[in-house]
Amino acid sequence: MQVKAITPRGYCKGVVRAIEIAKNAQNEKQPIYILGMIVHNQYIVDALKARGIQTIDIPGQTRLELLDQINEGTVIITAHGASDQVFQKAKEKGLNVIDASCLDVIKTHDLIKKKLSEGYEILYIGKMGHPEAEGAISIDEKKVHLITSQKDIQAMDPKKHYVMTNQTTMSLYDVYDLCEYAKSILPHVMIEKETCTATKIRQEAIKNMEDDIDIVFIVGDPHSNNTQKLAAIAKEKKEVHMIESVDDLDIQLLKGKRKAAVSSGASTPTYLTNQVIDFLKQFDENNEQTYHKPVIDTKKILD
Ligand code: SF4
Repeated sequence: MQVKAITPRGYCKGVVRAIEIAKNAQNEKQPIYILGMIVHNQYIVDALKARGIQTIDIPGQTRLELLDQINEGTVIITAHGASDQVFQKAKEKGLNVIDASCLDVIKTHDLIKKKLSEGYEILYIGKMGHPEAEGAISIDEKKVHLITSQKDIQAMDPKKHYVMTNQTTMSLYDVYDLCEYAKSILPHVMIEKETCTATKIRQEAIKNMEDDIDIVFIVGDPHSNNTQKLAAIAKEKKEVHMIESVDDLDIQLLKGKRKAAVSSGASTPTYLTNQVIDFLKQFDENNEQTYHKPVIDTKKILD
């Protein structure tokens, strides 16, 4: 089968840095915990657990609440960042704190703090319950408003002065639409788009893929926001399937198809994406011997 491996794809600099920090933390004060999933990928969480690094993640709980589960040792803050309250509470508990926040997330937090100090309120386009949005909103819960749809913008006060910004992993195109809508109904809104470069160039590569592609596979964890956004953008023009690994690849989908494209979220292990690409390249629907999937070697996930 012909395969177009879309570039860029996969790990971004923030994720590479966070995983390196976690891998190098083994000599720190024990036990070692990660506050929430280090990136939204279960394979990585499991691989770190195998090295003795435990992830504390309870659905519905904030980073601040999750800290109640940790009473000793080292806590790693994930690439999504965390609020000042989280850092403060961890220090008060006597924990050794390692900060793996992505520098792009910190940049957005700094922008929000600066604009609040200048008297603006913040319209933050993000995903409800996402740790990055949680960190941004908790900078000032009264003045940083989560925006998930046009309806949320309609609830704002047209007399107030706002700065509109966004979670770094949102779709460029959704952010554009919401910003345009905000400008049309709020006379005093200033726009500061913050989709990070890694997200931006991965989304643009998907948007600009060739016309002759019959089917697209996006490799990544279904909980990863940036992976979901890649799939949503591809869906506008193509048949798209989100898969976590080669195991999820349905052979029936490949029949009658000539060319496949593959991309992956910023949190997807390169090893898993390469396995999908290699499998598709050797696949020939007229030769059943090419239907056999490779085994996933979990020891290679963190390579
Ligand atoms: S997606 Fe962007 S903001 Fe998030 S970790 Fe990667 S580089 Fe940083």
